[in-house]
Amino acid sequence: MSYDECYVKSVVRTIHDWPEPGIAFRDVTPIFKDPKALRMVSDALTTRYIDSGITHIACIDARGFLLGSIMAYALNLPLVLVRKKGKLPGETICQDYTLEYGTSTVEMQIDAVSEGDNVLIFDDLIATGGTVLAAATLIRKLGAQIYEAAALIDLPDLNGSTRISEADIPVFTLLAYEGL
Ligand code: AMP
Repeated sequence: MSYDECYVKSVVRTIHDWPEPGIAFRDVTPIFKDPKALRMVSDALTTRYIDSGITHIACIDARGFLLGSIMAYALNLPLVLVRKKGKLPGETICQDYTLEYGTSTVEMQIDAVSEGDNVLIFDDLIATGGTVLAAATLIRKLGAQIYEAAALIDLPDLNGSTRISEADIPVFTLLAYEGL
């Protein structure tokens, strides 16, 4: 099934003033209720990475897990988790980062990736880019290299994809929404 950006965009739902006033929340959950949209985005993402040489997919808590898992299954690749602090057992490393309001922390298990690995970072959406950059810091600390950061949605006006590119990480997204 060929990818139809207009169709996928029509399925994503925008919820205004959630979780706080002024935010337009781009809700991807309807994609998972719509088998045609899910197949389109899964196939588009999977096809892009078939001959890429990536060795691992690092997906970000929690909506990144959904499509990340599908890609890992389709590409027959290991999936590793970048989780919010306190969710992963065993020995971990963590990285703080700044949100629009306050700070947050992401964490990975220390054996998730290692030197020689070529990792794709995946999340549902890039806003300020802070989450992806914190994940990238952890992956680099563990000795692996980053192939690219991918997401379903980019919010270019928040400059996240630019910040990520400036950290020498290529960025790929399937959809973009202007505005905040
Ligand atoms: P950031 O670190 O600022 O790039 O934020 C990206 C993370 O926050 C992703 O995991 C998204 O799921 C979530 N997020 C940020 N802004 C939005 C938004 N407007 N709509 C939906 N999710 C968002």
